[in-house]
Amino acid sequence: MVKVKKTPQRRCLGCDTNKDKKELLRVVRSPQGDISLDKTGKKPGRGAYVCCSRECVLAAISGKRLEKALGVTINEELKNKLLEEL
Ligand SMILES: [Zn+2]
Repeated sequence: MVKVKKTPQRRCLGCDTNKDKKELLRVVRSPQGDISLDKTGKKPGRGAYVCCSRECVLAAISGKRLEKALGVTINEELKNKLLEEL
């Protein structure tokens, strides 16, 4: 018998769809307050999830949902940095 592992689901802040956690990108605010993309899912800090797509990252930012989820202000510089890391 093969055990079926349940994959945790997270909701994308861009398109508001539930997906497997591993299919989503974690944006994390470190204890120091730095915002970065966490591709390993292991960075400490407060995290929010979006799809691995430019559209969803932009939607999450422009709708202020990412700011609310992380409790930070996302300026143009940070937005560009996140898009570059994508
Ligand atoms: Zn999405």
